[in-house]
Amino acid sequence: MNTQKDSLHLKRRVNRKNKDQALAEIAGEDFSRRTISFYRYVSLSGPQAMRDLLFDSLDEMGCKGRIYVASEGINAQMNVPLPAWGTFDDFIQSIPEFSGVPYKIAREEASVPSFWKLTIKVKKKIVADGIDDPTFDPSNTGKYMDAEEVNRAIDNPDVLVVDMRNQYEAEVGHFPGAHIMQVDTFQEQLASVEKELGEHKSREVLMYCTGGIRCEKASAWFKHKGFGDVAHIKGGIIDYDRQVKERGLENKFMGKNFVFDERLGERISEDVISTCHICEKKPSDTHYNCANLSCHVLFISCDTCRLRCGDYCSRQCCAFDKIPSRLKKPMIRMYNKVRRTYKPTFHKTKFRPQ
Ligand SMILES: [Zn+2]
Ligand SMILES: [Zn+2]
Repeated sequence: MNTQKDSLHLKRRVNRKNKDQALAEIAGEDFSRRTISFYRYVSLSGPQAMRDLLFDSLDEMGCKGRIYVASEGINAQMNVPLPAWGTFDDFIQSIPEFSGVPYKIAREEASVPSFWKLTIKVKKKIVADGIDDPTFDPSNTGKYMDAEEVNRAIDNPDVLVVDMRNQYEAEVGHFPGAHIMQVDTFQEQLASVEKELGEHKSREVLMYCTGGIRCEKASAWFKHKGFGDVAHIKGGIIDYDRQVKERGLENKFMGKNFVFDERLGERISEDVISTCHICEKKPSDTHYNCANLSCHVLFISCDTCRLRCGDYCSRQCCAFDKIPSRLKKPMIRMYNKVRRTYKPTFHKTKFRPQ
């Protein structure tokens, strides 16, 4: 009896629709969705039970998104059907561990939904940091700066401003003068702090990331590494932007804030600070994933190159994709290796929004 009940439960806890079906369903909805994110570092004693509780309830409300649950807390990026907003809020706030958690609300929705399925995973950590140092105390975080303080710090040449995001995120938008590390993961970034920035330990540091979650950990890591004066933007670029708008402050962030959903970015200022990866000439900050699934690299393309190459990052990928899959399989590794060496502007990242 129990087994039958359990299997019924299990069935409800997975996504059954494919992308086209799900998108068609969302397109037919007579309500809109609100894209939000929230996180909290909090000790969760039963991440799996929490995961199931969240999945059952959020699925019922029709929420979509990507949520990570770990014994160290929760990291959620998702959208909520507007009619279910009250129910959603009551539910999240009723969970003692999440009570009072603030939501960051996206400033714009795109023509495509930010998420089309609900994925909730139990992870070892809510942000993979690669840290394996028992003397590291992640609760010893840096101080917060609000938007006004951030603006002053950006103008102060004595302050070392560090972008705690990956190179492909900073490429389309960042604060002027920020130090950008040429890395594709947060782990790589933390590992290179000492080498890249070790000589600046006596300087005041201001760091920032998308929504603040990475800086919670990174600021503690910088302090652990001997940086004396470490601050970060409370709520990241998302909340900086909100504060700037609300308080009528000058916006100092240039370009787009890269986001990890189908929208791939929110425009903060009109500046286009990056260049098309294909022609390497025209300014563009629109990301695409290469349609050649054995490449699937995240790349920036201008409108002209997009017309010429379609959904592909290059002519080679376009041609390669036409090879019958039987022949393609053994060629994939070699193909990618040669292409990356030949065109290093393409990132290693295989990031996919879903
Ligand atoms: Zn181009
Ligand atoms: Zn490609």
